[in-house]
Amino acid sequence: MNHRQFEAAVRRAMNGLPDWVHAALENIEVIVLDEADQVLDPERQGLLGLYVGLPLPERGVDYAGELPDVIYLFRKPHLKLNLSPHDLRREIAKTLIHEIAHYFGIDDDHLEELGWGWSHAGGPCVCWAKSNPYHLISRNRTDLSLYCLL
Ligand SMILES: [Zn+2]
Repeated sequence: MNHRQFEAAVRRAMNGLPDWVHAALENIEVIVLDEADQVLDPERQGLLGLYVGLPLPERGVDYAGELPDVIYLFRKPHLKLNLSPHDLRREIAKTLIHEIAHYFGIDDDHLEELGWGWSHAGGPCVCWAKSNPYHLISRNRTDLSLYCLL
């Protein structure tokens, strides 16, 4: 799967997300790279995806003028999973949803509990949220949202 095909798979996964997710996605970009560089993955873990930003529950009423959050999806680590084209597309969608869950303030431990952590997927994830996204009220609310998403 070349870069353009990978981007098309990401776009298709994006288009498959429910309307409420699109409505909730504000000031966030999805970027496809072949692999993470030293800055994004200092420990060379072969990240599948990475979320960098300020999760939605942490954004206050004064949130304005910030640079967009970024969801990175890394192509080569996905290819290394050696999946069939169908399973590869599913894995790409899964990575995308995992990173979007971080945007909704759900951390990796909680995703693991929900069965969407990286021990269930093909590779590691590092979440670079700018502040601790753990927040009980929003967590319960986003749980509901996530279940709708899956
Ligand atoms: Zn994660």
